[in-house]
Parts: sequence; structure tokens; C-alpha cells
Amino acid sequence: MRVTFGAGVLRKLTDEVAALGLRRVLVLCSPEQEDTGRLVTDTLGDRSAGLLAEARMHVPIEIAHRAQRLAARSGADGCVAVGGGSAIGLGKAIALEHGLPVVAIPTTYAGSEMTPVWGLTENGQKRTGRDQRVLPRSVLYDPELTLSLPTALSAVSGMNALAHAVEGLYAPDATPIVSLMAEEGVRALASALPGVVRDGTDVEARANALYGAWLCGAVLGATTMSLHHKLCHTLGGTLDLPHAQTHTVVLPHALAYNQPAVPQALSTLSRALGGVADPARALWELAGRLGAPRSLRELGMAEADIPRVVDFAVSNPYANPRDVTADGIRGLLQQAWVGDPPQG
Ligand code: NAD
Repeated sequence: MRVTFGAGVLRKLTDEVAALGLRRVLVLCSPEQEDTGRLVTDTLGDRSAGLLAEARMHVPIEIAHRAQRLAARSGADGCVAVGGGSAIGLGKAIALEHGLPVVAIPTTYAGSEMTPVWGLTENGQKRTGRDQRVLPRSVLYDPELTLSLPTALSAVSGMNALAHAVEGLYAPDATPIVSLMAEEGVRALASALPGVVRDGTDVEARANALYGAWLCGAVLGATTMSLHHKLCHTLGGTLDLPHAQTHTVVLPHALAYNQPAVPQALSTLSRALGGVADPARALWELAGRLGAPRSLRELGMAEADIPRVVDFAVSNPYANPRDVTADGIRGLLQQAWVGDPPQG
């Protein structure tokens, strides 16, 4: 895909849309970002086919159908999704149905813009799949559009991005190039996030964080995720826990669980995090410094739900560098529920 990065690159949107041969594009965003959506339609002028400000977390099927119908009715030949993973996910739902190209303008660090992975939620069940048609054709990373992301959300969104790089380093399909991206992504995000949280209007810190998110998203798109992502998927899907916050809480514990089995990933992470001895502990401390949640309890999960998540985690086989045992996962989730420091 094409990627355009830098403060103010939104001004190049019309050129990017024209370069793809698109004449009328439907703009998508969340209701909370309707102003940003309007800024995008204004920037597009007569290349805009309208704005749908209805994107929601995990792409509910009814909203996907509405967006697909509107895309067809408005004669759109492409979409521009501006926002976080929810807006980009809605663009992907249209691409999946009609094959329309997606231009993504990410304003969080979630990384969906770099992946061919789509998701749709129906009757409380989220289905996901891979399809090259949903991979955005062009991505514009404009740090200025991230200045409004509340610092608390920035912290958890950044931790969410770090999780992609961590699991990319020990993925079954990891490659040396992807590992370089993962290391640089971790370094960039871990060093930028404290500055972002200190001053959300610091454009330089925002640019460094977005650069890290780009790298981590590219790792997510290129590799198969393991235990951490599966646990977060289950916690989000079955208990409706918030996406980025859940990643933030679980990551140190999932990494601590896997650390004994992944010495090479460990030394890469140690280097990326400034020479730390225990990367899992360092990520837990980073979350604390960022003022982010560190326990599943504070996200509203009931302790009584742990066995259900354990059952799900052990009954669905997936790639993981260390054996996934019921006792192991129970211990991991118990620590994460309480918010204790991670122990493998
Ligand atoms: P989100 O897109 O739901 O955004 C969270 C909230 O923040 C929304 O209200 C949004 O409008 C607001 N927001 C976003 N950017 C803002 C900004 N700059 N200023 C002010 N408000 C802003 O959250 P997310 O964490 O980015 O995305 C989560 C969703 O994306 C989940 O459904 C997840 O499964 C999906 N996702 C998919 C992939 C993939 O590869 N398919 C990858 C990552 C995440």
C-alpha cells in the first residue's frame, strides 16, 4: 500500500484519492469524531459522496449492512475511513461486500490500517477473517489528527500497539525483517508514550508514537498472533471488556507466561525497552507510569468469570510458543485480575 506520513498530510488526501482513480468516496467515522469526519469531507470537496458517522467497536452487522447499502446507493467508488480501528473496520466491511478500495486515516494506535483482517459482530459473536480486498490501498498518518485523542486512551491504545510487536517477535511466521520492525516499533512507542501522556498536544511525541504504531500495525498484518491476542479476543467477545484497556492489562502477564520459551524475543525486547532485565515487568511498570489500568478487576470483570475464559483458551488450539495449560492460564488471569506484577 501507499503510506503518507507527517503533520498536515491530511491536505494531500485529495491527491491520494485521485491517484487511486477514485471520484466519489464515502467518508466513515465514529459518532464521537463527526467533526473530524466533516473536516475530511470538506477537504475532499466534490470527491466526497457523503459522511456516515456511525462506526462502532467490533463492527456490529447492522451498521455494516447500513454502510454497505449507503455505499451502493450513493454511487461511491471507494471509502475514506478516519478514526480508530472501529472506523477502519467499517471501511473494511464495505470493501468485503463491494470490493471498494479503502483509504485509511488512523487517529489511534490500534493498527487495523496495516492488516487484511476484517471483523463483524452478529448476535454477540465476532467473526474475523483475512482478505486482501480489505487491506487499505492508501494510508495517511497525520499526527495532528491524534492530538485530540484523550491521553488516557492514547496510553492504552499505545499498549495495544505494543502487544502486536511483542507477539510478532515470537510468531510462528516471524521473519528477520518483521522482527526489525517490531523492535523499532517497541522502542519508538515505549519512549514516546510518556511524552504523549504528559502533554497530549506535543506534536513530536505524537509523531513518534504514530510512527511506532505504524510499525507495530505492520507486524500485526504480517504475522500470526498467539496467546495474548486470543485471550483479549475472548475477554472482549464474551465479557464485553474494552479493547485497548484489556490489551494493556493482559500484555505483561501473557508475555511473562511466554518469556521462558522465547529467549530471542526476550533479548530483542530487552534491547528495545532500554536494556531491561525483565521485559514483562518493564511493560507492567510502563502501564503504571502512563496511569493506565493494570487489573481486569478495574475493567469490571468478575473473578467468577475466570474459569470460563480458561476453558475457552485451552479448548481452541492456536499457535503459542509455550504450552497453553489450564493451570497456567488460570494463574495468568488471576494475576491480571488482581493487578499484581507479572510472574511467568
Ligand atoms: P475506536 O476506533 O473504537 O476508538 C475509540 C474511541 O476513540 C472512539 O469513540 C473514537 O471516535 C475515538 N477517537 C479515535 N481517535 C480519536 C482522536 N484522535 N481524537 C478523539 N477521539 C478519537 O478504538 P480502537 O482501539 O482504535 O479500535 C478498536 C477496534 O478496532 C476493535 O473493534 C478492534 O477489534 C479493532 N481492530 C482491528 C484490527 C484489525 O486488524 N482488523 C486491528 C486493531 C484493532
